[in-house]
Amino acid sequence: MKKTVLKEYARLIVRCGVNVQKGQDVLIFAELDQPEFVAMVVEEAYKAKARKVTVEWNYQPLQKLHVRHRSVTTLGTVTEWEKARQEHYCQTLPCRIHIISEDPDGLKGMNMDKLMKARQKSFPILKPYKDRREGYEQWCIAAVPGKAWAKKVFPGMRTSLAVEKLWEAILSTSRVNEDPIAAWEKHNKDLHDRCAYLNSLQIASLHYTADNGTDLTVGMIPEARFCGGEEVSKQGIAFNPNIPSEECFISPMRGKAEGIVYSTKPLSYQGQLIEDFYIRFENGKAVDSGAKRGAELLKTMLTMDEGAAYLGECALVPQRSPIAESGILFYNTLFDENASCHLAMGMGYADTIEDHHNKTLEQCRELGINDSMIHEDFMIGCDTMNIDATTGDGKVIPIFRNGNWAF
Ligand code: ZN
Ligand code: ZN
Repeated sequence: MKKTVLKEYARLIVRCGVNVQKGQDVLIFAELDQPEFVAMVVEEAYKAKARKVTVEWNYQPLQKLHVRHRSVTTLGTVTEWEKARQEHYCQTLPCRIHIISEDPDGLKGMNMDKLMKARQKSFPILKPYKDRREGYEQWCIAAVPGKAWAKKVFPGMRTSLAVEKLWEAILSTSRVNEDPIAAWEKHNKDLHDRCAYLNSLQIASLHYTADNGTDLTVGMIPEARFCGGEEVSKQGIAFNPNIPSEECFISPMRGKAEGIVYSTKPLSYQGQLIEDFYIRFENGKAVDSGAKRGAELLKTMLTMDEGAAYLGECALVPQRSPIAESGILFYNTLFDENASCHLAMGMGYADTIEDHHNKTLEQCRELGINDSMIHEDFMIGCDTMNIDATTGDGKVIPIFRNGNWAF
């Protein structure tokens, strides 16, 4: 891919994605195989007058070695210096940029049970820091084609061609064209208009059906609002958490989901794939699940903590989105979730609560926002999906017909 185009993309992530402020620190999380692009992002961040940019590198083979050779205790221990670092981030509130490029199946064979036990140990210690920053930080997830990922998406192609094809797909669906920042302004307006209409309906519940057997009703929180595209942090800074983004999403009422839902795309969880699965809900809780591949992993995911069995997000995405129309299965949540209606298990978004800027995280959770150490999106949209909303005064309004907006 041409350097000039990649620089435009790096600039989009810095300016429109996290919207780096003068004097702000920036944290970048990236895979070890992307040094050139990460350097471009770092340079753009300094051009935007960042004070200090720090990169945290990840490498999947190392992750596997750590899990294999360390004990649950050492994996799950949060050292004093790590706590000090978390405290530092609470004080300085750096922007967070996640550049994903990893192999969707790259942690296959890792001991999930061990990892889960370690996470369960460390998470309660890290959570208070995370909660204190919740809503105050600007963050953005964007993608770069890793070699193994590109080969998974375009099997049978030689690696360099597969990488180039994946670059094209990422950049076109991320609206990196002649003027990406103007394109994003227009796109954000479209998403905000769509959400405004949904919010005017005062939806009490959504009923999903499809010919694959999906028949699920999810209750809404009266104070919750559909959101999409650009958000504003509690510091008053606008940012775009996902590049690309096509969804109008809301966090549902914890404890209000009945019925069964079937996945329509594979889910990569902790670097391993779960395919062709279903989850059945009673009183909001996942009480039964099964999968053609990765059934055990799915059960592990749903039992990570109490909240992992409850829904955290309902997102509406038409089958006619640019990502869906690309016809590509990305094996990556950032893209696949923006090509299909999806739900998420686990943590809900407190910032979907009306006037959340003036509420505490606890107040938002009391209204019915779920809390968990996980937030895992999974795709349920298809060409036969219909969604009906029941409003507060009992009217039934079509929201989706045959996989696309009904209005
Ligand atoms: Zn989503
Ligand atoms: Zn999500």
